[in-house]
Amino acid sequence: MDYLPIFFNLKEQHCLVVGAGDIAARKIELLSRAGAKITVLAQEIGEAVGAMQYLTIQQKSFVPDDLSQFKLVISATNNPETNALVAKTATEQSIPVNVVDNPGLSSFIFPAIVDRSPIVIAISSGGSAPVLARLLRAKLESLIPPAYGRLACLADRYRDKVKQHVKHVPLRRIFWETVFQGNIAEQVFSGNEQIAENLLIQSLNAIDGNDNNYGEVYLIGAGPGAADLLTFRALRLLQQADVVVYDRLVSDEIIDLARRDAEKIYVGKQRQNHSLPQPDINQLLADLAKSGKRVARLKGGDPFIFGRGGEEIETLMAQGIPFQVVPGITAASGCASYAGIPLTHRDHAQSCVFVTGHLKDDRVNLNWKQLSLPNQTVVIYMGLVGLELICAALIAHGSPKDLPIALIQQGTTDKQKIVTGTLATLPGLVVDEGIKAPTLIIIGTVVSLHDKLSWFTGTLGDSSNV
Ligand code: SAH
Repeated sequence: MDYLPIFFNLKEQHCLVVGAGDIAARKIELLSRAGAKITVLAQEIGEAVGAMQYLTIQQKSFVPDDLSQFKLVISATNNPETNALVAKTATEQSIPVNVVDNPGLSSFIFPAIVDRSPIVIAISSGGSAPVLARLLRAKLESLIPPAYGRLACLADRYRDKVKQHVKHVPLRRIFWETVFQGNIAEQVFSGNEQIAENLLIQSLNAIDGNDNNYGEVYLIGAGPGAADLLTFRALRLLQQADVVVYDRLVSDEIIDLARRDAEKIYVGKQRQNHSLPQPDINQLLADLAKSGKRVARLKGGDPFIFGRGGEEIETLMAQGIPFQVVPGITAASGCASYAGIPLTHRDHAQSCVFVTGHLKDDRVNLNWKQLSLPNQTVVIYMGLVGLELICAALIAHGSPKDLPIALIQQGTTDKQKIVTGTLATLPGLVVDEGIKAPTLIIIGTVVSLHDKLSWFTGTLGDSSNV
């Protein structure tokens, strides 16, 4: 982060603007919206500034002594020497200074602003792409109803009352989330503020302020890696969770979407290195919820596909703990899409099976006969270690040696890498390519479509060997 975003309280503070053209006028307007007492210093006063009220105007050229007494200064002249002198003097006196369009001379810069006072959103590109910041602002402007300000004012009026009535901080947070996301907010947005206020009072009175029995678990599918493959529901629940319990396959990018103050607990497993046994994870979730926390249990892909999500909620169910399950994009869908390999296709495969290639006691217990049948796609999760054995078994049970097969490493992420070959060649190729888990294997003639339909290139790319 090149600049720290902070919000400056300028109410009744003396601020100086050097220059009085159109650009200065825009800065004066901003300062006055923040309640500053503004002095303008310039030899020539432009029309817009001349028409402004409540300004102190000094019609003269700038000298260093002019700066004493000011809390903040903006230099908006078209004279580089004056701008440089203002910057130098302010810096010497430790007064925050902005020279318009000159970040090099400025100790602070102005962000693009979405003003829904008291909600204010500031966006900055640190001076590197102001147009991008403005485009983002336009997006936010259209996304955030103007009535957000009124909603914040309503909340402000009831802040102390809610604090007194609802003593437990997490419960209070839930109360406000309900206010801001439900019917009360909708009423404010449609202009029915009185109805909104009545509803707020009603829901406040309905709360037992001393209750702390509100824990819940959200079993969330985090998808195969890319954060923008999360569902809206996953994002919303993740952002309201007090604790995040996550696995190895969940990317940092996704963990970062949780609340900053949420506790993050890693319970990931690596092959043969179980850092927390599954029964302990099940109980951990139950205990956290019992202590009144909202727990986001993040799992790679979909929780119900090779994710042991069922076992986790069985424990919750047995202990009477509320939970919700949010489906995620499973690795098979994610990897297939990002590799340009349709899992079914009228000319190739009328069915698709997902199997695990995880070796139990060094044996893969799969129905090889069934998996060797034609006109289907076989997707193998956790199959990297057993790849050689899997290919050999399929050939032994009747699959053609030249049946196309793809191995996708870290699918959907920028580290995605694809190796394609045949049942006979792939195990050797994978060794040569130095592939690492997580990887997904797709077997079937649909893999031959990859050359034609491949569209996504991670940084590591593609190695086609069919
Ligand atoms: N519940 C998960 C699967 C968990 S099992 C889901 O629905 O996707 C873990 C296996 O999933 C890994 O060994 C690998 O085979 C596969 N996998 C998960 N994410 C992957 C990714 N981004 N790229 C390739 N394979 C992935």
